[in-house]
Amino acid sequence: MKKLLTLLVFSFCLSLAVPGYAMNTAVKVITGATVVDLEGKNPIENAVVIVEGERIKSIGTADTTSIPGNAEIIDASGKWLVPGLMNMHTHLGLKLPGKLAAELANETETELALRVADNGRKVLKAGITTIRLPGDEKHADLALKKAIRKGQAIGPRIFSSGEALAITGGHGSEKGKTFHDGPYELIKAARKEISAGAQWIKILISGGIATNGGDISKALMTPEEINAVIDAAHRFGAKVTAHSGSPQATSIAVDAGIDCIEHGYFLDKPTLRKMKKSGTWLVPTILVSQPALNPFFKEIGSPEWYMKRRESVGKHHWKALQTAIEVGVSIGLGTDQLPSAPTDGTTATVREAEYYVEAGMTPLQALRSATIETAKLLEADKDIGSIETGKYADILVVDGDPSKDISALRNILMVMKGGEVYTDHLSK
Ligand SMILES: [Zn+2]
Repeated sequence: MKKLLTLLVFSFCLSLAVPGYAMNTAVKVITGATVVDLEGKNPIENAVVIVEGERIKSIGTADTTSIPGNAEIIDASGKWLVPGLMNMHTHLGLKLPGKLAAELANETETELALRVADNGRKVLKAGITTIRLPGDEKHADLALKKAIRKGQAIGPRIFSSGEALAITGGHGSEKGKTFHDGPYELIKAARKEISAGAQWIKILISGGIATNGGDISKALMTPEEINAVIDAAHRFGAKVTAHSGSPQATSIAVDAGIDCIEHGYFLDKPTLRKMKKSGTWLVPTILVSQPALNPFFKEIGSPEWYMKRRESVGKHHWKALQTAIEVGVSIGLGTDQLPSAPTDGTTATVREAEYYVEAGMTPLQALRSATIETAKLLEADKDIGSIETGKYADILVVDGDPSKDISALRNILMVMKGGEVYTDHLSK
């Protein structure tokens, strides 16, 4: 019995190790910085954060914590430490209408894979250490996730839904993709994504901005279809999120037990109250409809219809976000843009967080929506989302306290993910 147990433990350990890659057991110590407290309590000043391998071994103050002799010291004196940022809505293979999409029209699958890998690297280097991908093509997202795990590529922690499930004539239906109509096709499609490695299922239940046609505020997927796909996914332990701009579609999805709603352009108070009551998450992606992105869309040559559609949705979207904050709906930060995309002098992720403050969140709430709240959305808060003993060492060094002024996130001096440093402006 004991032998069997030893064997089991041994094979379990082997299955955790990645072939060909030595386990990272290095000890790094970050000294001199203030660890921002996400509960709004007292921060730890002049902290000593000991990182062993991928995880945080201990956190204490300089006068009570001794530094191991073999440690590499990262002097962050006078700076602040926050958890790595998270972005819950992005597509690493994003193609938006305009000249960019035209350039990518003949992109091969191999080229897509390399572009996705390059985007993943940029995202991590910009301080976003975890992302959720609600819909990428050809499973390039799932391949990148695997490659990062094996040490073949660098990038953030990835939670992915594989390909989004679209119905004929609905949002996302113009890309020459496969469509799924009726409960049975949707159930089969969901199971296929889960078998391929998806932890989420993304369904498109209303119209969208990037589709020329289809009313964004109308419920396009039927209640039978929505119920069937949510039930099928939940049976496999996968979560479901829906692209929805529509109160009606959202209400049906919430009744069916959906986990999360993306965008929520036209959501009204009764629907948001219902989401709050059911514990349904909202990922606002407010950036996509707001003026900060106007220069970006002009630069990529977005067509006139697209610019008009963004503008017409913008005011409703803003009101929906303000109401969601007022009602107290759980919000996870997402941009629908590449998280690291240059936006208004910073990244899309940081600009999105700034918009949350403009719409009514405190800076601390906005910081939480990009860290510990998103970790809860992913049910990964045991491992990520805050700087705590035992969690992965996903840590940013910043030049101010973002819980007082969210724009302090504009100046990220160091990015650490799982104990490895990927960006370092500290020592320069
Ligand atoms: Zn999207």
